Amino acid sequence: MTGPITPAKPTPGKVPTRVIPNEAGAAAEAAACLAGGGLVAFPTETVYGLGADATNATAVAKLYAAKGRPSFNPLIAHVIDLPAARRLAVFDATAERLAAKFWPGPLTLVLKKRTGCPVADLATAGLDSIAVRVPDHELAREIIKRLGHPVVAPSANRSGHVSPTTAKHVLDDLQGRVDLIIDGGPAAVGVESTIVALLDRPLLLRPGGLPRNEIRRVLGKDPDDAPASVMDPEALIAPGMMASHYAPRTTLRLNATDVKPGEALLAFGANLPKGTENAVRVLNLSPAGDLLEAAANLFSDLRTLDAAEATGIAVMKVPFEGLGEAINDRLARAAAPRDN
Ligand code: AMP
Ligand code: MG
Repeated sequence: MTGPITPAKPTPGKVPTRVIPNEAGAAAEAAACLAGGGLVAFPTETVYGLGADATNATAVAKLYAAKGRPSFNPLIAHVIDLPAARRLAVFDATAERLAAKFWPGPLTLVLKKRTGCPVADLATAGLDSIAVRVPDHELAREIIKRLGHPVVAPSANRSGHVSPTTAKHVLDDLQGRVDLIIDGGPAAVGVESTIVALLDRPLLLRPGGLPRNEIRRVLGKDPDDAPASVMDPEALIAPGMMASHYAPRTTLRLNATDVKPGEALLAFGANLPKGTENAVRVLNLSPAGDLLEAAANLFSDLRTLDAAEATGIAVMKVPFEGLGEAINDRLARAAAPRDN
């Protein structure tokens, strides 16, 4: 069979996974699969990545489901070159210098997200910042170029497992969960990209393939080490951790079974609670009760309701199965009291 396998609504664990060699046509097939909302594992210069079209929130939701993470962490958007990166993020002089010197290569920059950035809110976990990188691997570059969109590509393993450096590792972990695996032989072992945030001051978020002294040479000084808690993706929305963290200003009321006067409603499923007709604004994560769809809508819906000038946001119960765990995790964090 040729062409992408992109079932309309694949259930994790039920997708027919194909493995193809890195030969002529592989990049075209991968790009077609990604364009159809599919998941493709491919080698990069670091480890095997699990790619999804970064602008397709449903594909990104499928990626989180395939990896089986109990929470959403922000993903790195891989682009073809610096002009493509400038369409996603705001580059100051320091960012320009680092990019000019080290891209393509194992350096990820966390920058302010540009207004109108086409990357799905889910891929950046609702943050106002975005992680971008230009990879230095021929196949990865060819896939990105043919797709014509940024590609999110975290390591192609199940959550909690080690990063894969061969197609066999990927298959062992993700068979039945991804559409396509491209076998490009062993990847350069286990060195992930170095992550530097340039939000207020340069912070080294993750040591990786690009040594710190290389960065020092361009900055003229060492980047500060991020506090350990910043490396916990959940801490990214904690008050004061990052200049651009996102958390709704409006108070969330979880597991709501009614809507109180002045409240907006974040609904899930078909059975709307009493008081819905008086809600300031109603958005439904998924009228059909589909958790993939709910995940895809979560962060953008929260932002929209946050701007609705409601006294609070009533949030209907979301089941805990599958992606529901990550959705509930994020809702609980967004509802937690904070002091700024
Ligand atoms: P990876 O699993 O290699 O794709 O790396 C993803 C990691 O990049 C996340 O777990 C974060 O540590 C970091 N990251 C991505 N986006 C951001 C962001 N907007 N702000 C801070 N860190 C980020
Ligand atoms: Mg990983």
